[in-house]
Amino acid sequence: MTALIFAHSLIPKGVQITLLESPAVPIIGVGEGSTPLLRGFFDMLGIEEAEWMPACHATYKCGISFEDWSTKPGFEHYFHPFPSMLDIMTMTQFIHNVEARLRGANLYAHPDRFFLSARLVAARRSPKAREDFPFDVLHGYHFDATLLGQFLHKKALERGVRYKSCHVTHATVNEDGAIGSVHTREGETITADLYVDCTGFSGLLLQKALKVPFLSFADNLFNDAAVAMPSPMEDAIPSQTVSTALKHGWAWKIPLTNRFGNGYVYSSRFCTTDAAEVELRQHLGLLDSHVEARHLKMKVGRLATPWHANCLAIGLAQGFVEPLEATALMVIQYMAMNFVPLLERGEFNEEARARYNALVNRNFDGIRDYICTHYKTNSRTDTEYWRANAANMNLSDNLKRIFSAWTAGKSIVPGLRAQEFGQGYPVMSWFAILSGMGIFPDPSNLRPPNAQEARYSLSEIDDLLNRCVANYFDHKEALHQTPPSKPPLTLQLYFW
Ligand SMILES: Cc1cc2nc3c(=O)[nH]c(=O)nc-3n(C[C@H](O)[C@H](O)[C@H](O)COP(=O)(O)OP(=O)(O)OC[C@H]3O[C@@H](n4cnc5c(N)ncnc54)[C@H](O)[C@@H]3O)c2cc1C
Repeated sequence: MTALIFAHSLIPKGVQITLLESPAVPIIGVGEGSTPLLRGFFDMLGIEEAEWMPACHATYKCGISFEDWSTKPGFEHYFHPFPSMLDIMTMTQFIHNVEARLRGANLYAHPDRFFLSARLVAARRSPKAREDFPFDVLHGYHFDATLLGQFLHKKALERGVRYKSCHVTHATVNEDGAIGSVHTREGETITADLYVDCTGFSGLLLQKALKVPFLSFADNLFNDAAVAMPSPMEDAIPSQTVSTALKHGWAWKIPLTNRFGNGYVYSSRFCTTDAAEVELRQHLGLLDSHVEARHLKMKVGRLATPWHANCLAIGLAQGFVEPLEATALMVIQYMAMNFVPLLERGEFNEEARARYNALVNRNFDGIRDYICTHYKTNSRTDTEYWRANAANMNLSDNLKRIFSAWTAGKSIVPGLRAQEFGQGYPVMSWFAILSGMGIFPDPSNLRPPNAQEARYSLSEIDDLLNRCVANYFDHKEALHQTPPSKPPLTLQLYFW
């Protein structure tokens, strides 16, 4: 992804890009879900869904369903929707009801009823509307990560990226603290003006050669391991990722056209590798199956500075905030797209580095805070893992501000809009998670709403959204036809 984003803007300006890849180190190969930003990646490169999606067994994604994270009656399930243009019709009502319930009015405030994406998923529809219905859903995708890697490799070569299969053993560091060259097991010494470290968790250049500190998030996020295995596809292909809370973490279920990708993300402090595999097999109904399980370790945290001297770390080499909201490819795209304009303007200096690093770190820490919210707000008490997560006070000041405003019944909308806190996620996502987890006053303390509070009719919302749903293709039908995209939603609307 990084090579292609750089190539798109820089190769026409005469820059040479060479990608070195070790024949001995496989890719991690498990990232199979995206956020809506990925659509912008393909749009920028002019690659149509009709070309890349079938090649990668890809499906459409309307959002993520969270199962069993909360035990509060009525809130055992909620859906984190990807935004649609039609949300403008229901956001006001949703925010109104949530804020009134926070002030004690007994009003309906579960997110699923207010968003088109949640209804599309329930109806097994895709986020692609028929030609005469001009309302875009800012959807994401699911895909086979290995096939997508191969597809992008081919595209990068077509667009002028040079490729060398070689294993980098080490880098030399100049007296000024910059990378001087990299050396390969095949005996080559390779020099460049800029080195981009995409070596995954091994962090060969920034961490190992340049000794840039890695800031662990282990105090905020306990999960550090995963086990993955496929399962057979069902008749109807869902257009959502499902994330189900298990005993010591959560399991993902990602639909591709030919299979489900599944995995259990857990904390090795609370659960052994073997117990995790057994629990995942039980969850999937695969206890007696011989399907192979893949075990992985995760390093959760980030570099203090992703751009240091003449070297930029992108991908797992920069950092990782566990896969709960499938954000890693989004960060890669965000980092590469924000770096290119600096190169184009020749801003290769200390001031630009500080600005860029602050931007990336702020965004990354905002994503961490959002992921932490899932764990902090859980109400399960069945294992020490969940109790420890709920009791964890290692939260950023920004997150503490969100929680204290929310529980005091003060609106968090102005702070989110001004990006004073909650960076990286829009108003809709923060309201979806906090209301979806049932973070409201105790039901026994709720009072009947007054007329002003009860002014929105849920049946009108049901009627509007249900009629809209009928205009979107059935998911399987859309995967067959890959209908053209509508003009995309503006970011302004996304951040409502
Ligand atoms: C359990 C899990 C689930 C995930 N789910 C998602 C998800 O749903 N959505 C999402 O967006 N992301 C997800 N991710 C993250 C996603 O998989 C990665 O961000 C993405 O694959 C990019 O990885 P990478 O290229 O940085 O590293 P890797 O895939 O590890 O690639 C590293 C590359 O560096 C090369 N390399 C390493 N060492 C050397 C060397 N010495 N010399 C030469 N080359 C070398 C390797 O050959 C390889 O090609 C998940 C991650 C995990 C662990």
